Amino acid sequence: MENARVPVADKASSSPSPSARSRSGSSAPAAGTGAGAASGISPAGPPQPRHPAPNTTAATTTPAPTSAPAPAPAPTHTPASTPTSSAGGNNANANGPLPLPLRHGHELPFVAPSSYLRPKQTSRTMSDKSASPLDKDQMQGLRGVREFLKVRTSYDVLPLSFRLVVLDIDLLIKKSLNILIQNGIVSAPLWDSRNSTFAGLLTSTDYINVIQYYCQFPHDLNQVDQFRLSSLRDIERAIGVLPLETVSVHPMRPLYEACRRMLKTRARRIPLVDIDGETGRETVVSVITQYRILKFIAVNNEQHTMLLKKPVRDLGLGTYKNLATTTMNSSVLDVIHLMVKYNISAVPVVDQDYRLLNVFEAVDVIPCIRGGAYDELSSTVGEALSRRAEDFGGIYTCGEDDRLDSIFDTIRKSRVHRLIVIDDDCRLRGIISLSDILKYVLLFGEEDDTIRGGSGSLR
Ligand code: AMP
Repeated sequence: MENARVPVADKASSSPSPSARSRSGSSAPAAGTGAGAASGISPAGPPQPRHPAPNTTAATTTPAPTSAPAPAPAPTHTPASTPTSSAGGNNANANGPLPLPLRHGHELPFVAPSSYLRPKQTSRTMSDKSASPLDKDQMQGLRGVREFLKVRTSYDVLPLSFRLVVLDIDLLIKKSLNILIQNGIVSAPLWDSRNSTFAGLLTSTDYINVIQYYCQFPHDLNQVDQFRLSSLRDIERAIGVLPLETVSVHPMRPLYEACRRMLKTRARRIPLVDIDGETGRETVVSVITQYRILKFIAVNNEQHTMLLKKPVRDLGLGTYKNLATTTMNSSVLDVIHLMVKYNISAVPVVDQDYRLLNVFEAVDVIPCIRGGAYDELSSTVGEALSRRAEDFGGIYTCGEDDRLDSIFDTIRKSRVHRLIVIDDDCRLRGIISLSDILKYVLLFGEEDDTIRGGSGSLR
């Protein structure tokens, strides 16, 4: 385990700048420590709330079963809230130019342009004049959350005490798998000890790339066995995938910036990298995920998330067309190919009636290839799901009538990584990933369109 470093950072004793605070236990062995509550990557508890959230009523989304083959229970749907008044009338003069007083001899020789030619408010910017009280509350809630993200830093998201597992790029890939599993984590920052630099983030996507390499070059199993983390970029080149952008953010920059960067690069997690004041070298402080950020918002900004009362159906939140799905009897390899093809991190598992049974997640790949067992990828999805850790948090479902405020309630209370949208018969309707929620919360109604492009799921 010589290549794994597990610094234990203590935020409570930190000085204002993370680069200046002391870090202890920097060479503690990673193995055997388990997924303790102090992990900086996948801590068990929510971030410490700055403003304790008041007690809330029960969550409206329902955890699905934790074990593989059992069907998800019927969801508890929240009735959609009814707008208290309809959208404002279409008064043509409301937004159009006022008629100018005409002087004699200056009468216009043509009729005034019709309302079709006048610039219109786009629906996304939601003019306050035509908005219903529900729309106004929604926009007020979104603005409040955005302001909150601008005054908080990424550092604020970190729990008071956490552990960080950093892997040296000289480590064998198959050993890295065991370290992740033993520590109950699914990603780790990489460290280039020769150059003393941060070398990117190891995630399940990297293992999926190794699997793709193995599929393309099945006779190279011995070589695959000897791959080190430093080979990951070569593997990307060999299978022809674009290298993941090594995006990072300074811990003291506004949290809003980390969110924008994650949306732009489609990264689901972002490392916080600081410069050590003494040596001038990069220091990886921690990694924050979309889940951590949304949890942080849910716990600390309830006065604004409670205003988000529009149902997901009205928001078009998530993806409802061309869903990639699988069955319990499909092979793990087939699901991996689906995830690569769609560039997604989860595939719902359905029965012959399209009823939701479970969800195969990209992180489920890790136990499947533990110790470099790439030849076990022909096992079925059902078998793979039964290898999940005992403390697996379950899957979460909601209905199209569920409101965003109740989704935030669920995020506040539970470890939610996505919501599967189902109907009253438990049939799959869609999927709402955390990136869909983050994208909506940050970008809806904003003029700046630069990030939207992507999956196009903001409607
Ligand atoms: P994710 O990979 O979960 O961050 O999702 C990226 C985008 O793909 C989001 O807009 C999701 O709504 C969408 N998405 C996630 N899973 C699926 C799936 N199984 N089929 C189709 N789209 C999906």
